[in-house]
Amino acid sequence: MNIGTLLTKSARTFPQNLAVACGSRRWTYARFNERVNGLANAFARLGIGRGVHVAILMQNLPEMLESMFACFKLGAAAVPINFRLHPNEFAFVIDHSESEVVVISSEFNAPISQIKDRLPRVRHVVTIAGAQERMLDYETLIRAEHAAFADVDVAPDDVAWVFYTSGTTAQPKGALLTHRNLLAMTMNFYSDICQGFGPDDVVLHAAPLSHGSGLYALPNVGKAAANVIPETISFDVDRILEAVERYRVTNMFAAPTMVKRMAECPALHRYDLRSLKILNYGGAPMLAEDLRIAIEELGPCLVQLYGQGESPMTITYMPHSDHVLNGTSQQMKRLSSVGFARTDVEVKILDDEGYQLPTGGIGQIVTRSDMVMKGYWRNPRATADALKDGWLHTGDVGYMDEDGYVFLLDRSKDLIISGGENIYPREIEEVLVRHTAVFEVAVIGVPHPEWGEAVKAVVVPNPGCEVSGDELIDFCKGRIASFKKPGSVDFVEELPKNNYGKIVKNLIRAPYWEDRQSKVI
Ligand code: AMP
Repeated sequence: MNIGTLLTKSARTFPQNLAVACGSRRWTYARFNERVNGLANAFARLGIGRGVHVAILMQNLPEMLESMFACFKLGAAAVPINFRLHPNEFAFVIDHSESEVVVISSEFNAPISQIKDRLPRVRHVVTIAGAQERMLDYETLIRAEHAAFADVDVAPDDVAWVFYTSGTTAQPKGALLTHRNLLAMTMNFYSDICQGFGPDDVVLHAAPLSHGSGLYALPNVGKAAANVIPETISFDVDRILEAVERYRVTNMFAAPTMVKRMAECPALHRYDLRSLKILNYGGAPMLAEDLRIAIEELGPCLVQLYGQGESPMTITYMPHSDHVLNGTSQQMKRLSSVGFARTDVEVKILDDEGYQLPTGGIGQIVTRSDMVMKGYWRNPRATADALKDGWLHTGDVGYMDEDGYVFLLDRSKDLIISGGENIYPREIEEVLVRHTAVFEVAVIGVPHPEWGEAVKAVVVPNPGCEVSGDELIDFCKGRIASFKKPGSVDFVEELPKNNYGKIVKNLIRAPYWEDRQSKVI
């Protein structure tokens, strides 16, 4: 099925349901579908059809969802781009993806005009307001067209979304997600993450629509649920909590850093959050101590997911029932896991030679399912590295316990090798974050003349807290093996994060390694 047909069907069955709310703009499913159909007709007139790539560069706005669905219905591939990227970065994605059309929000009119000459493949720029020379106006295009459109028949393996990775380790790569991948992800959401999800649900898009929140718009549209898009560019925790209360939000996705800010918001209990059934978090590690606080403060709404762009949002999950405060020691230990394989997903742990490891063996996490991407766009070498015999090699290192719970230790590139011992930074971070003076921490390897690498903790202290490096090193004693405790601690005001709120360890490492690029990257 064409993934865009999710919208066509919801508009037929639930025409009067609220589809999108953003500030004063509120569209029913009937209206949303008509606008998408108008845009699909306009795109077709511009020569966009099956297999063509369309870049979408805008803030979280309803037009982002419209443009994505217009592409799906046409059999074209959407290339959503994070609006916080630097012009050089979005120029790279537009050019590399060979997009023929770029749809932008008005703040990109000037930047795109400036780089247009570096984008020879782009035939049209469509802007949602304030069109400049050589640009088309979005609303004018829609108004000129019919509000009916017959969704194009696609093959299940046709590409629907070119998902550019966030590039925390190297140049971004375009994961090719097919209609089959996205439909399987959607069905999996209903079966594991949010059973009973339906037309009365209200979903808040607090995270970028170009990433997780946009992927999760698909199950919302498939069940005619409401999509609430806050009118704030940054993650303003008070406005997000206010929106949950005002719209009676039932479901949202947030990065762990956002969940932490919600749980630790001083005004949290002023808001009525009782409608919130599911707070889905993932995309980066959630340290057990942060999770404990979140369970305490936010109640029984948390569900963890582990996925990556190459297997969108879907490898393992940790359901509500595992989010406990006073469980057995095994249950408490599992708070630092990423849960177990999703219903129709296989997960294995492999050693360096590619052999499956027994329970508890530490190696690379691999996965096989209908969610796994077709490959990377124009990157056969990276595709061959990532996909072997149908198994996606995630680049994440971890182990599985006897009940199938997966413990993700780190990205393989973040592993520290000190005196021949493998040290997983996450284990040390889990300890340090329990110290009352520590707000956030990243543990990295720094050069050491004798051991190759030494362990360093880079710490953001809690406001008003005084603590010394020696005190924190002492705190690790008796809690982890001695060789793992940091040899040194540096204090910083904040840790560098990428546009999705993930801590970027290569940027933290860079000053310590200077010219030894291999470790920095
Ligand atoms: P991206 O493709 O940008 O979504 O990044 C995917 C990567 O984020 C994964 O390969 C993991 O390293 C990390 N990640 C995703 N979900 C989790 C999670 N629940 N816990 C820890 N790390 C995660």
